[in-house]
Amino acid sequence: MTARAATGRAEVGRAVTGRVVPPETLADQRLYLEGGLRPLACQTCGTRMLVKKNSLQHTSVQWLSDPAASCPEFAAAVGPSALVAGCGALRDSIQAAVRDGTLEVADG
Ligand SMILES: [Zn+2]
Repeated sequence: MTARAATGRAEVGRAVTGRVVPPETLADQRLYLEGGLRPLACQTCGTRMLVKKNSLQHTSVQWLSDPAASCPEFAAAVGPSALVAGCGALRDSIQAAVRDGTLEVADG
């Protein structure tokens, strides 16, 4: 069992887990959607992702494109550990989706 090279972890805000989803896992993405993930794009940089709010504090993100390639703020934050804060616009986009009901909060 080998790890995919394109898989990485990212942190957005306080408690966010995320990983890059390679194009070949489109079938998997359908499963993610069925699992509560919703497609979302950063309103500023256009980075596309699947997002699931497990609770108000915990957000799961599956990147559909490499955020470091499309989001200047994200790229600037990438370090050796691949733990990044993400961009503020992305967090705002998630919050906006929660407010307008596009993104449901599972809330345990
Ligand atoms: Zn962004």
